[in-house]
Amino acid sequence: MRQQAGTNLPKVGSYNQNVVLDAIRSSGATSRVELAQRTGLTAQTISVIVRRLLNDGLVREDGARPSAGPSGSGKPRTTLRVEPTAGYAVGIHFDPGWIDAVLVDLAGTVLAETRRGLHHSVRPEEAVALMSKAVRKVVRDAGIPQRRMLGIGLACPGPIDQELGLVLYPPRLAGWEQVPLGALLETRTGGPVTRSGVAKNVGNFVYLYMGTGIGGGLFLSNQVYRGPFRNAAEIGHVTVAPGGPPCYCGNRGCLEAVACPDAMVADARKLLADGGGGALAAAYARDPASVDHDAVCAAAAAGDPLARGVVDRVASYLSDAAVSVANMLDVELFVLGGPALGAVGAIYREAIEEALSLRPIARRVHKAPVSLSPAGSSAGAIGAASLVFHRAFAPQLTALLERTMP
Ligand SMILES: [Zn+2]
Repeated sequence: MRQQAGTNLPKVGSYNQNVVLDAIRSSGATSRVELAQRTGLTAQTISVIVRRLLNDGLVREDGARPSAGPSGSGKPRTTLRVEPTAGYAVGIHFDPGWIDAVLVDLAGTVLAETRRGLHHSVRPEEAVALMSKAVRKVVRDAGIPQRRMLGIGLACPGPIDQELGLVLYPPRLAGWEQVPLGALLETRTGGPVTRSGVAKNVGNFVYLYMGTGIGGGLFLSNQVYRGPFRNAAEIGHVTVAPGGPPCYCGNRGCLEAVACPDAMVADARKLLADGGGGALAAAYARDPASVDHDAVCAAAAAGDPLARGVVDRVASYLSDAAVSVANMLDVELFVLGGPALGAVGAIYREAIEEALSLRPIARRVHKAPVSLSPAGSSAGAIGAASLVFHRAFAPQLTALLERTMP
């Protein structure tokens, strides 16, 4: 694991403080000596910063453990950990199909979560009211003091105009045009809202989300990369089927157009209507049009050839997109998450990992593993919450550059 280096220049106190806090957070437990080694800051600087973090209640000392000297008899090192109760954030993931909300502590533990489905005709005001209700519910369920709430992170369907704070003509939401979703939610909840999303311990990774649509998140060089206009990582709109079916974005053959749940269901219905055999065909012989995404995934996981064919096609499209992303960004890890993984997350994971070991140009230098998000279906919401912590605490090089420019 690589840690972002600190800088011993003057006038960068808060940047260094965030580097140190981030190092403590990502290591779980560490010591002042290890912090100096990992961040490149002097022992004296570390000592001053740690004292400040202890005074602010963001970090706690957890007793001493023996140092790793040859005889184990060196001076004991005090263990430093992040104080989980120092701050909390709510993450909301607004998928056109549902709203997920989670409340997480500073250590990233989920203390409460809730989900509710949405009708596709939901109006913006109604969606905001439901989000606000979900926020109140997780705060109440977790029983945490309001004053420790650092903010709300919101992951929502793109594209967005960050400067104006607008969700622009989001797909799959009938009648939404230019909606100031963040501002509406701030007014409604009274808390600061940070938009977009992602997770820890790896400096460079890609998060691939599969829900109603397909989205992504980029964590590059220890920072969430959102792009200058906050619309980066639209992995769902990478072309994987040139000349393929039209996508609502105006392009053709986008990953989302051929690999989202609706596309899979359409594929399966067509195969069933064409008279395909197997267990799924037998179960839906009377009404092939009633087959749904869950049924297709469950049948594929159980080895039904027709359903497996549908899932394998999606796995192959996902692999194409992942290889393009790996060639472009040279990342260490891919994380797959989202409710549409259904029962077939492991099939996707294996296919993408194999493609990443055989196809990117840098495969002989390193192979990027693929992991299924341990956060499971609420990954988007947890990512949104961690964005609040990132905004509050993660070292932002851009901020440093802005401040040190003459
Ligand atoms: Zn598209």
